Amino acid sequence: MADCKYCGRSAGIFSHAHKECEESHNQGVTILEGAIRSYFKGATPMSEIVRVANHVKQNNYISDKDRAESSSKCIDEWTNTIHWPFHSSHLDKIKEFITNIGVSYQDINGSGALDRLCQKMIRGFMAEYFTGQKPLQRSLQISQQVMRTLPLTVQKEQEAYYEMLGQAGKNFLKDGLMSPSEQQKVDEYIGTLGLSLINLPPSLKGTPIEEMGQASILSDIQAGRTPRYNLQAPIILGRGETAFWCYNNVTMFQEKVRREYVGRTGGFSFRIIKGVTYRTGGFKGHPVETSFMENMGVGSLYVTNKHIIFMGQMRSIKVPYSKIIGINPFSDGMEVQRDGNNVKRLVFQGFDCTFILNVLALIN
Ligand SMILES: [Zn+2]
Repeated sequence: MADCKYCGRSAGIFSHAHKECEESHNQGVTILEGAIRSYFKGATPMSEIVRVANHVKQNNYISDKDRAESSSKCIDEWTNTIHWPFHSSHLDKIKEFITNIGVSYQDINGSGALDRLCQKMIRGFMAEYFTGQKPLQRSLQISQQVMRTLPLTVQKEQEAYYEMLGQAGKNFLKDGLMSPSEQQKVDEYIGTLGLSLINLPPSLKGTPIEEMGQASILSDIQAGRTPRYNLQAPIILGRGETAFWCYNNVTMFQEKVRREYVGRTGGFSFRIIKGVTYRTGGFKGHPVETSFMENMGVGSLYVTNKHIIFMGQMRSIKVPYSKIIGINPFSDGMEVQRDGNNVKRLVFQGFDCTFILNVLALIN
């Protein structure tokens, strides 16, 4: 015999709840969520929500856990409907709700609903900085005020800042380049918030943030400056050598027998031309045909002002730019052709090579 999880009385051998108790509970959830939605729409005062919540607790077996879950669900729905610009009324509304709903902040935030709301608001204030409507200090001040009601971990706070940075980057790079004023905005933002454009957490690889970092470095190279961002690279560099970028999880292939392979697209090398265009993912072409290429292992590919350096677990190789006579770009890598007799072609796979092509165009 099992007891009904709602009323606690015996529910029969194969059942853990009475059908009518279950129905009553579901009805209670519907009533409570309807009331909470109405509160967030501004149609019902909080005192009424408290009354409804207590009513369904007594009459519909709505536990505190149910109350927290319904709150969380309705907060997520509300988060999806509100849009920047945010006002203090938004903050007041959630504050009043959290204070009076009768379950703990942690329980309401069990699935991160309050974190998501806070992150959305922060992104909105940061958008006002990027669109020139507020100075950064003001956006930051308001964000901190919001975080006093909706506290975030440092990681979640940074996540929100990075996400906005990514959105700004997408806009800034629409024309392929960052203008000096856009660059300045980004520099102030990452400097003030303690972010980085080039030493990024793995989750941000391949995002517009990374492209912005690369675009900044390219504009520095073009202007003859040392790049403003410093790559932390565990490689030994030569005199006057600066590391610009590092791609992780790159696979190196080396030509085994020197002959053309079937299925190659194009067959021409990238012409190294002057001037920078910045668009990634522009190369069509299939992943390189590897049947005649020997897999030399996975490693990190560094781009410096003098070399491309592959540091693998099995093999490492350093190719000076002066020895590169051509590059075949692929959508997910590149083939490097080197000058000299009997030199084997190299293929690096697992990244977008736009940045390297631009570095070569500027340095050669
Ligand atoms: Zn029951």
